[in-house]
Amino acid sequence: AKSAGRNRWMFYTPEMAEQMVQRREMENSLREAIKQQQFRLVYQPRYGLNSSRIIAVEALIRWEHPELGLLMPDQFISLAEETGLIVPLSEWVLNTACRDTQQSLEGLSVSVNISAVEFQSWGIVDRVREALRQSQLDPARLEIEITENATLWNPESSLELMLALKKLGVKLLMDDFGTGYSSLSYLRNFPFDGIKLDKSFISGMPESDSANTIVENIIGLGKAFSLSITAEGVETEGQLQKLITMDCDETQGYLIGKPLSLTALKEQMNALDAA
Ligand code: C2E
Ligand code: CA
Ligand code: CA
Ligand code: CA
Repeated sequence: AKSAGRNRWMFYTPEMAEQMVQRREMENSLREAIKQQQFRLVYQPRYGLNSSRIIAVEALIRWEHPELGLLMPDQFISLAEETGLIVPLSEWVLNTACRDTQQSLEGLSVSVNISAVEFQSWGIVDRVREALRQSQLDPARLEIEITENATLWNPESSLELMLALKKLGVKLLMDDFGTGYSSLSYLRNFPFDGIKLDKSFISGMPESDSANTIVENIIGLGKAFSLSITAEGVETEGQLQKLITMDCDETQGYLIGKPLSLTALKEQMNALDAA
């Protein structure tokens, strides 16, 4: 019997059995996908407001499933986390992103998303070190995006892991800032270089006075802690202009560019340079 506390699911229903089978199948196909390299990375530009140019990209994973077609991370990352397959997956992501950046994205930094579950063991430090070694990428050009729940599970050991990563020379960004529980003063206890302000804050801008005030305050406090501030999900010119007046450092979002294949991104940047 499952979750008898609420008396709703006293016994496994046929639907639940089917869900378990589907999950098992998905897990197997994820395992197979890693072996057969069915993944690819797309890169979304990050735009510096001081320099008015693309200064970095964020690597985002896609799964080209042979039967189901293109799958987005929301459809498989949590399964990868639960099954431990996130480890070989993130190894592939780190190696590919570092190699692509070193070979094809001259002058740009790259950020990679690392799951909170990976912050429970030292393996992540080895994977980052190995990706840097294999690619020969300057560590200062690699940024690791971590969501705040990574630090909440076990503050002491995640602090040690972060310090070890910093020692390798990479930068640390707190992703989706504002969606969890931590405050900026809590952030001060961890060696973050910057925060990425969640898109839910940006979507009300510039019309909503409260959205504007909140974002302006977070930017101000972040600056007081010497953090670089990236606004995520910037979709309109109005939002961009407002963020410039607030002295935000960087924006990312559909206005500047959607996530693109490496080839498409390079074409777009060449076209911009030519213009
Ligand atoms: P995230 O790290 O917050 O990434 C930003 C997400 O917002 C991306 O979705 C991106 O395509 C989308 N986005 C960017 N600009 C805009 C915009 O202007 N408007 C809107 N509405 N959306 C925008 P995506 O690629 O589906 O990724 C979803 C999440 O999956 C990511 O959220 C990240 O948490 C996770 N993820 C992606 N790649 C990886 C990976 O390689 N490893 C791990 N562990 N997680 C990953
Ligand atoms: Ca991210
Ligand atoms: Ca984010
Ligand atoms: Ca997110």
